[in-house]
Amino acid sequence: MKTWTRREFSTMAGVAALAAVVPQAVRGQSKPRVVVIGGGVGGATAARYLAATGAIAVTLVEPKRRYATCFFSNHYLAGLRSFESLVLGYEALSERYGVTVVHESAAAIDPVAKTVALDGGAQLPYERLVLAPGVAFKFGGIDGHDEAATEIMPHAWNAGPQSELLRRQLESMEDGGVFVIAVPPDPFRCPPGPYERASLVAHYFKQYKPKSKVLILDAKDAFKPQDVFEDAWARHYPGMIEWLPAQFTGGVKAVDLKTRSVITEGGTFKAAVANVIPAQSAGLLAQRTGLTDESGWCPVDPATFESALQPEIHLVGDAIIGGDMPKSAFSANSQAKPCAFAIAEALTGSPLFPPHLFNSCYTFLAPDDAFVSALNFKPDAEAGRIELVDTFVNKVGESAEIRRRTAHEAVGWYAAIAHDTFG
Ligand SMILES: Cc1cc2nc3c(=O)[nH]c(=O)nc-3n(C[C@H](O)[C@H](O)[C@H](O)COP(=O)(O)OP(=O)(O)OC[C@H]3O[C@@H](n4cnc5c(N)ncnc54)[C@H](O)[C@@H]3O)c2cc1C
Repeated sequence: MKTWTRREFSTMAGVAALAAVVPQAVRGQSKPRVVVIGGGVGGATAARYLAATGAIAVTLVEPKRRYATCFFSNHYLAGLRSFESLVLGYEALSERYGVTVVHESAAAIDPVAKTVALDGGAQLPYERLVLAPGVAFKFGGIDGHDEAATEIMPHAWNAGPQSELLRRQLESMEDGGVFVIAVPPDPFRCPPGPYERASLVAHYFKQYKPKSKVLILDAKDAFKPQDVFEDAWARHYPGMIEWLPAQFTGGVKAVDLKTRSVITEGGTFKAAVANVIPAQSAGLLAQRTGLTDESGWCPVDPATFESALQPEIHLVGDAIIGGDMPKSAFSANSQAKPCAFAIAEALTGSPLFPPHLFNSCYTFLAPDDAFVSALNFKPDAEAGRIELVDTFVNKVGESAEIRRRTAHEAVGWYAAIAHDTFG
């Protein structure tokens, strides 16, 4: 079972600590300006912790007025939560923390002039910039699956209209159909997410469409923790979930929208509902600003999250090369704090403490059966990467009570991270 360590708790309580260490003298001067682009988990956390210093003028640029969390969106797909329960707002960030929230897209960054151009034409000057644009989808790897095709074969890998579309498709499909999930190649947002989705959709089928099946067509030959998932599938959904690794199928090569089929090297699979999740890379603005390397992701200093390619621009969240850290909301939230502390130190001279990085991913196998993967990391300055220090993952064979308690903790985790991120 995961219990919070004092270190983790003190990181969660870091807002108060940061406000306390900013020198009074700095507070009286005109404030240095930080622009944060992207109001997802990474950007909103950075904005909140920077603003909490009281010594930095923070502007958060995010086109959406409401943010729907991907975490727990598989519950929504399975009919276990409303869509509205996933939606968070920016009011507390502006009203309680004094963040200026601008609901526009950032069109371009000029790293030399240190300005951000907004879609509406305004220019925002900055002393430091934080960019947290999340992921972009790389269409082109699967023939016939482009942006328009996601209206028929949704990815639902951003929470929003895509999730609502996939939910409607699952609700209207006839009993006896196959729900096909195409899992992209690594790295992608939320590594256990596709398998959690398979589990919770199977739970929905078991109740309402018991003759239906889930077929997972994977771009990989293994996933983690495979034994925990396969044990749960055998216990909860015998015969309902089939997982086909790339070595059996050769991977997904094409889709046929007319027949709703997913085509692999090894055969064609007819779907009642097809959930094709495209390969991913860092968000487009990071790519256009030259912040990505040949991998398509953003290299950063593992302690300060400053770009390795462009000084005074920091990046957090799914867009970065996170070393051993997976692309998750918890990781984005955890990275944003040392990033904020490093910027505060650079701009206001506040003391800097060694960063602690964590990720606890709660994954549901059934509504009352969840496991946690709790990981601690440290930045390795010499290697220039974030390294795993220790791990806890639930095991096969644990009591139902342990899994029930973990599921209960996960609900508490959702409330805690929502509060820590959006105030
Ligand atoms: C099905 C699913 C389940 C998941 N479950 C979990 C879980 O249980 N636990 C967990 O920790 N993680 C989970 N995740 C992963 C988690 O949602 C992501 O890792 C997290 O959202 C990453 O945060 P981010 O800030 O990097 O990106 P995002 O949350 O995607 O935020 C990026 C923001 O940037 C904005 N943006 C992009 N470009 C611009 C621009 N040019 N100008 C202004 N704004 C811009 C976007 O509008 C967006 O709001 C899950 C993901 C999925 C898909």
